Amino acid sequence: MFTLLYFELLLNFVDCRALHILGKNGFHGTTLTSEAACASASREDDKLIITPLGAGNEVGRSCVYMSYKGKTVLFDCGIHPAYSGMAALPYFDEIDPSIIDVLLITHFHLDHAASLPYFLEKTTFKGRVFMTYATKAIYKLLLTDYVKVSKVSVEDMLFDEQDINASMDKIEVIDFHQTVEVAGIRFWCYTAGHVLGAAMFMVDIAGVRVLYTGDYSREEDRHLRAAETPQFSPDICIIESTYGVQHHQPRHIRESDSLMLSIQPSLKGVVS
Ligand SMILES: [Zn+2]
Repeated sequence: MFTLLYFELLLNFVDCRALHILGKNGFHGTTLTSEAACASASREDDKLIITPLGAGNEVGRSCVYMSYKGKTVLFDCGIHPAYSGMAALPYFDEIDPSIIDVLLITHFHLDHAASLPYFLEKTTFKGRVFMTYATKAIYKLLLTDYVKVSKVSVEDMLFDEQDINASMDKIEVIDFHQTVEVAGIRFWCYTAGHVLGAAMFMVDIAGVRVLYTGDYSREEDRHLRAAETPQFSPDICIIESTYGVQHHQPRHIRESDSLMLSIQPSLKGVVS
């Protein structure tokens, strides 16, 4: 689930309307734009358009389309874990995959990356796709396992192992803090905590910066750094907000109470 935040006014945006994401029931690829931008900009390309194709007021199938100044970016390409077959995909039929310049994957979890073999191998997408080194390595392992353990009918299979292998040749890697430019779109990424390789992407199109996060954690882990604070403020932030209003227990309490309680029966079995 995502929340969009405007941090400051953009260009000629004089009265930005608060963006909201429509829910899954009423969601039909609704396009979210700034009203003021529409009024003040004479050209269609000057509208900044953000369209959640998945994860808008729902959890799962993260996929957000963004276009500005004739350039298009897709963030994440997940599946909905509660559905199977085509129903699990983001609403790809609301966009034209052939016009997307760049596809950025934040991390390897299925709800952020598992539509990728389908999107790369079975649609008209011909842009470039990026993820971090660790994400690419684990993506292959995870998706291959996903195909093996999926108990769906042949017609519900979105892709097979061959598609995963073919997608590996198309995926390019990006290092944290490395700046890449594709067709006038500049982007770089920060550590996001959460899982190995997880990244938050900052995209700069014509001086307008958009920060997109997948899941992230601000807590230092035993083996992962916490999510970084970007050195540049974004103009717009599209932020994962599934647990945004919940407080998690501190780790030391989770480990001392919940974890110990859950493993004690097993320990007793081993000791006795
Ligand atoms: Zn995740």
